Amino acid sequence: MKKVDVVVLGGLSGITAGISCRRHYPGKKVIMVRKEGTVLIPCGIPYIYGTVGGPENNVIPDGLLENNGIELIKGEAIDVDRAQKVVTLKDGETIGYDKLVFATGSVPLVPPIPGIDKENVYPVKKEFDYLSEVQQKMSGVKELVIIGGGFIGMEFADECRKGRNINVTVVEALPHCLQMAMDNEFCEEAQARLAETGVNILVNEKVEAILGDGKVSGVRLAGGKELKADMVILGIGAVPNTELAAKAGLELGFKKTIKVDRYMQTYTDPDVYACGDCAEKQSFFDGRPTGIMLASIATSEARIAGANLYSPTHQNCGAISVFSTVINGRAFGVAGLTERMANQTGAKIIIGTAEAPDTHPGGMPNSCPLKVKLLFAKDTGVILGGSISGGKSVGEMVNVLSACIMHRMTIDDMVKFQMGTHPALTASPIMYPIVNAACTAIIPLKGIA
Ligand SMILES: Cc1cc2nc3c(=O)[nH]c(=O)nc-3n(C[C@H](O)[C@H](O)[C@H](O)COP(=O)(O)OP(=O)(O)OC[C@H]3O[C@@H](n4cnc5c(N)ncnc54)[C@H](O)[C@@H]3O)c2cc1C
Repeated sequence: MKKVDVVVLGGLSGITAGISCRRHYPGKKVIMVRKEGTVLIPCGIPYIYGTVGGPENNVIPDGLLENNGIELIKGEAIDVDRAQKVVTLKDGETIGYDKLVFATGSVPLVPPIPGIDKENVYPVKKEFDYLSEVQQKMSGVKELVIIGGGFIGMEFADECRKGRNINVTVVEALPHCLQMAMDNEFCEEAQARLAETGVNILVNEKVEAILGDGKVSGVRLAGGKELKADMVILGIGAVPNTELAAKAGLELGFKKTIKVDRYMQTYTDPDVYACGDCAEKQSFFDGRPTGIMLASIATSEARIAGANLYSPTHQNCGAISVFSTVINGRAFGVAGLTERMANQTGAKIIIGTAEAPDTHPGGMPNSCPLKVKLLFAKDTGVILGGSISGGKSVGEMVNVLSACIMHRMTIDDMVKFQMGTHPALTASPIMYPIVNAACTAIIPLKGIA
């Protein structure tokens, strides 16, 4: 039996936890056990079918582990004996540990729709060979139906149409695509951008059955309408992969995620930690459990878990939820709460909005109009969330907003924000939309208007 200090089970957040551990405790021997031969960049999966051209162009290099002195074992952990502190792999190999990190992630949610197991119906798994098969099969597909208009469904629709003679239809049960993540005006903008590419978008529609004799030939909507389909992709969410954790006797919490404290230590065992999609999350805003699964949260938790293994170093502040996406060349990003989410919690808010080109003058090459919406708590003026649409700069601007939220900046702080600017790289300092949105929000706060 091998014996090491730390065993990490997982992929994306597992790598991050392993690196964090080695950074803080360079003397510790770390092994990562990973079911997947090759680990994909999960957020890049939709781009396999368009922009990057294949799964081989969307991998996290194993060199990252090697460079950080982490041994990789490709295999599936099937048992954890916490009393003996031993992990057993499918091939019979056993590894003794001092500390164990569960980073076993999530698997796609597969709803019990009749016909869901037909050939050419693909939930989005994060597996190299599986996604390679989807790519090969897609070359003969004429009618692609995507169930779910969240960001995975929308990104798949946008990418799969590229370079293919294919009809793509997105079926979304809610009134808007992306509604769980963005406010209506941004959802409508994203939908319009996707529709411009020729993708059909059906909202307020539910797929009731998947049709076909063995292989999918269509889907039936709840109203009885049928759509032709020779491939169906399911993008309706994910569930935590915690069967092994449950078998090992670890306490599970919200939606079967592993219960952890702010140090990412499991409730059950001080030598076992968990991070990423498999670990329970609390909202940054109200501390309630939340089912959000994002790489931003997973890797933050992983850095915390790795650092805390031998000495409490960092505490988790809760899930802020920051993400971005691109639909037909237009970027969308949200950090923290949307107006819809704030209204659902009954929070009293003040909204500020601003628009400006992301260069100055706006006539610079590749300039793109930016639209920013900020939410502040009415009583304290603390920022609760922000949504942005625009060009490439959205990806980093939304990260700036995440930092503002994490540090509970107020409207006053944001009005005084000193932003670096350059004509080719940013909006004008006079028009900087994050600052100007804060400036417009201060008006109702002070009762000026
Ligand atoms: C198509 C798609 C697009 C996404 N885009 C974004 C995005 O743009 N931005 C964003 O923030 N988030 C995005 N996400 C979400 C993000 O990918 C997840 O939050 C992230 O992958 C979570 O990382 P993780 O390490 O916790 O879990 P996972 O990525 O699920 O990794 C878990 C790993 O554990 C391994 N494993 C599981 N069980 C065992 C076992 N018993 N033994 C050994 N190994 C095991 C698995 O093989 C896998 O490699 C996207 C997700 C998908 C599916």
